[in-house]
Amino acid sequence: MEPEQGPFFIASNLLIVTCISTAELWLRLSLNYQKQAVVGCGFIMSYLIYFLLEPHVDGAQMALMMPIMVALIYFDRKMLYFLGVFNILFYTGFYIGMERVLLNKPWLEFYLVQCVFIVFVVMANAVIIRSQEVRDHLEQVTKSEQGLMVERAISDKLLKIDALTGLYNHKTFHEYLDSLLEQCENNGLQLQLALFDIDNFKQVNDTYGHWVGDLVLKEVAAKVSSMIGLNDFAARYGGEEFAVIFTDNSPQESFLAAEEMRVSISLMEHPYAGGKPITVSIGLCNYQLGDGKELLFRKTDDALYSAKRGGKNTVCTAVDATAAAGDNPLACMAE
Ligand code: GH3
Ligand code: MG
Ligand code: MG
Repeated sequence: MEPEQGPFFIASNLLIVTCISTAELWLRLSLNYQKQAVVGCGFIMSYLIYFLLEPHVDGAQMALMMPIMVALIYFDRKMLYFLGVFNILFYTGFYIGMERVLLNKPWLEFYLVQCVFIVFVVMANAVIIRSQEVRDHLEQVTKSEQGLMVERAISDKLLKIDALTGLYNHKTFHEYLDSLLEQCENNGLQLQLALFDIDNFKQVNDTYGHWVGDLVLKEVAAKVSSMIGLNDFAARYGGEEFAVIFTDNSPQESFLAAEEMRVSISLMEHPYAGGKPITVSIGLCNYQLGDGKELLFRKTDDALYSAKRGGKNTVCTAVDATAAAGDNPLACMAE
């Protein structure tokens, strides 16, 4: 480097640093025209580096490729073509106006530099196309994964829910009850089980048809589900039988809740079923520590049987064996 070029060298380097800092600041402040700021910075830097290196370094023209690389950062093909054409035109003008006249560079160098520009643009184009393909593929994979997750969630729900009534099904009910009974034994959780059986349901089917029976089942299930508390759990136990598990209630509270449901169900109107009330009989049992699931069910079933025998449309509670008065182990509340 000639000694008189020293200030030019320092000034160029200072300009490069200023240019990079300005672009960095621009991006950090999230100002508008970010792409243009980066492209502009690339242009200024590449021309400064080019002027610094030329004519001391062979192939200094390669510094002019820097703005084209910006298109690669953004994977922008339009920008790539634009910058590629701009570079070729710019260098043509620069070669004819300066390099040829002042430095007497051979035409071969001009052709080689232009060829390198063109090859670089073609390669960058291939990279952008490939990246687009990879992005599309990733998008498809993500979409199909999301679809699979939704399908899994739906099939999970279908496995747990009874299709007709929308309540939990028999299997899920037993799984849930098993885990709750474990909590009763280990942590002293309070639990009451209620079995609901629609009264004279066969008659509804026989008189108005099976589809009316289905409609009644749906409506009674919806009523039960709308009346249970946040800690309670309702399931379709079988044909026209429902089960409700009350947790964190006292036996008295659960009895009142069951009684309220019985009354509400009996007050529902079913014009398509001859306008007659549909009623339920309910057997209720408070879980006694150490009883286990089988005994709990036997007691609840006995209570339900008593409710039926006592005239239906009734809630019967299986009373504590110790508190039960000999031959009257059940307490019932009828209309
Ligand atoms: P009770 O008061 O003693 O309970 O008499 P019930 O007629 O309700 O009882 P029963 O066990 O004799 O009849 C139950 C009927 O419920 C028989 C069956 O056809 C009907 N059932 C069971 N599942 C369904 C269903 O999914 N849809 C319809 N429509 N009917 C059902
Ligand atoms: Mg039944
Ligand atoms: Mg019945």
